[in-house]
Amino acid sequence: MSALTKLTLKGALDGLAAKDFTSVELTKAHIDAVEAARGLNAYILETPEQALEMAAASDARRAKGEAGPLDGAPLGVKDLFCTKGVRTTACSKILENFVPAYESTVTSNLWRDGAVMLGKLNLDQFAMGSSNETSYFGPVTNPWRAKDSNKALTPGGSSGGSAAAVAADLCLGATATDTGGSIRQPAAFTGTVGIKPTYGRCSRWGVVAFASSLDQAGPIAKTVEDAALLLNSMSGHDPKDSTSLDVATPDFTQFVGKSIKGLRIGVPKEYRVDGMPAEIQKLWDDGVAWLKEAGCEIVEISLPHTKYALPAYYIVAPAEASSNLARYDGMRYGLREEGANLAEIYENTRAAGFGDEVKRRILIGTYVLSAGYYDAYYLKALKVRRRIAEDFDHAWQKVDAILTPTAPSAAFGLGENSSDPIAMYLNDVFTVTTNLAGLPGLSLPAGLDANGLPLGLQIIGKPLDEGTVFSVAGAIEKAAGFTAKADKWW
Ligand code: GLN
Repeated sequence: MSALTKLTLKGALDGLAAKDFTSVELTKAHIDAVEAARGLNAYILETPEQALEMAAASDARRAKGEAGPLDGAPLGVKDLFCTKGVRTTACSKILENFVPAYESTVTSNLWRDGAVMLGKLNLDQFAMGSSNETSYFGPVTNPWRAKDSNKALTPGGSSGGSAAAVAADLCLGATATDTGGSIRQPAAFTGTVGIKPTYGRCSRWGVVAFASSLDQAGPIAKTVEDAALLLNSMSGHDPKDSTSLDVATPDFTQFVGKSIKGLRIGVPKEYRVDGMPAEIQKLWDDGVAWLKEAGCEIVEISLPHTKYALPAYYIVAPAEASSNLARYDGMRYGLREEGANLAEIYENTRAAGFGDEVKRRILIGTYVLSAGYYDAYYLKALKVRRRIAEDFDHAWQKVDAILTPTAPSAAFGLGENSSDPIAMYLNDVFTVTTNLAGLPGLSLPAGLDANGLPLGLQIIGKPLDEGTVFSVAGAIEKAAGFTAKADKWW
């Protein structure tokens, strides 16, 4: 039945509708694939019994003619989304045994529409990282390997488990989150499609918080159309999240395949960064050529504050993280390490429960928020953030969407950058700007490098204009004809 795991989400939904197979069959095929791929470490918790129950219930609904838009489709869930009665860890020791009493809104929406949960997916601890190596449960191995090499590569991060699971056919799609690039960079590293929608499109309720003004949920999927199907379900206003936008969710699938003739596409000159590999520049040039062929007008634009985006992000995100993570004190939930008094319990718990990268962020965040440094760092970073948003506002007067590379390199080796935080942070150079400005950004695979590894292009859209982003992505997907898959070695 391994053929069933090769299907796209759309293909599987069509097959279920045509009664070619049942959700139980489809789910079993995925459970088998997940078991056989444990070496990749993509899933940190498998929920096969629950999956088969959900699949059987889906088949029963379908038999009665009550199937929802995702009915019977087995998905993976990033372990940052709270799942009721199912352990949710954020891949940290401090939440190692945390079993939420509630379900996140995004996952509730997916189950409402009939989807089936296969299990919880690995990530960088509290979503802090770009390689999945900060996970308390160990790194995920990218299913892709360079040509003639057995070297283990990172799937990117923080949604490395989600991206690897989709790339290795261990689910039909997965939830992910993106604070500075964590949906898009892993998608680029694994030849999958990922979209971070407009800030506020998806509810953050029940998603373990990293940096609340930047965090946004979105899907990782096999195709642009699959990403649109998943986003349809994940989106929607939620009164439980005060930053959730009270706007209608259009049917995003309607935009995939739509003509993009006459659209103006911006190419920001500041994204041509020093030391960018020639292959990334070539991929970007290919993207421009495909869009021209499809009838777009290409416009060189300037986003002058781009060079400040990464430093601003690495102030704002840790500042918010230091505040958000104050709740892990050993009192209400999660790990508790005993001590002689209250302060010592806090200290012991946090020292034992957080990994090094999380501690680094808390230290930076606390520092930039402290009385003597608040104005110099945090306030300054907020001003830069405003300028970055204004750069985009100006650009939208001239263009309908923006094309950039997703990441400055292809997947790198596990361990290669893990001792150098700055080198790791540079991964986010093309992605953090959209988080700072709250804009939608999608990554799709558009080519292979000389080592046979996938490379991604990013499309950035106007606020709430995911529709145009999907149309442009659909056109690039068609032109690029990217059909490569990782050879199955696991
Ligand atoms: N790599 C970035 C960071 O470490 C982004 C992470 C994310 O988007 N969650 O902060």
